[in-house]
Amino acid sequence: MTLTLAVLNFLPGEGNPATMALQHHDEVVLLLGAPGAGKGTQARFLAETLGVPHVASGDLLREHRQRGTSLGRAAQEYMDRGDLVPDVLVVDMIVDRLNERDAARGALLDGFPRTVAQAQALDDRLRRRGGHVRCAIYVDVPTDVLVERLAGRWLCKTCQASYHEIFNPPASDGVCDRCDGELYQRPDDKRAVVSNRVAVYLRDTLPVVERYARQGVLQRVDGNQSIEAVKAALLQAISEDEPVPA
Ligand code: ADP
Ligand code: ADP
Ligand code: ZN
Repeated sequence: MTLTLAVLNFLPGEGNPATMALQHHDEVVLLLGAPGAGKGTQARFLAETLGVPHVASGDLLREHRQRGTSLGRAAQEYMDRGDLVPDVLVVDMIVDRLNERDAARGALLDGFPRTVAQAQALDDRLRRRGGHVRCAIYVDVPTDVLVERLAGRWLCKTCQASYHEIFNPPASDGVCDRCDGELYQRPDDKRAVVSNRVAVYLRDTLPVVERYARQGVLQRVDGNQSIEAVKAALLQAISEDEPVPA
């Protein structure tokens, strides 16, 4: 409790890396939540606080599509419909990313795992290397809020920063505050595709949330409050999470 209060004394975005950084080999923190829950908005500061890379499966898949790789071509039709890309493709992509040097201590995973099979594959891979899921943070937002959030979402082409035309507008229209990159709207944020993405999430991903709850590593954060309030709640969630002794 003392630690939590101490952490909350830091201004938002200025967590205490000395106490919150992941310290062991292959520890991962998961950011779970529906499409539009606010994962991308919060991920950058959370990864910086934890001292690990932010690994977003959706961003990696979009990069593959842009580069025209075979994975990008295989993923395209699923993403355009708002369906999940097959587990085997996504698991290999994430395992490859976790094997990169900068992820040796661990990573903040955003948007993965999204199915029970992906969660099992992640657990197996971590167990083989003596790692584990340190905590799974569930950003909880009622489904009726998600469509409005996604319909007004604008993303930076260069750094993937996420904005909202009403709830979190950039200082000047169409331009990223952080890097001056061009902002765009994702084709799968159209209302018809969003409703399929939310249905897929309820069917395939909620069981993953329940799985981590049963394992005793789930931290629930109310995502239906201001961006600053969610940030404070996330800091509190990771500060309450005790590091595993070395
Ligand atoms: P959001 O940020 O809105 O939740 P993402 O960028 O994470 O959306 O994902 C966009 C699309 O990429 C998904 O609709 C799905 O087609 C694909 N995708 C992303 N992550 C996964 C995953 N872990 N498993 C399967 N498909 C995925
Ligand atoms: P996710 O990565 O979970 O799909 P994003 O972080 O991209 O979601 O957020 C979806 C949309 O909602 C974006 O337009 C973002 O600016 C907006 N948003 C994020 N968090 C909040 C919040 N707490 N209140 C209102 N709008 C938010
Ligand atoms: Zn940018």
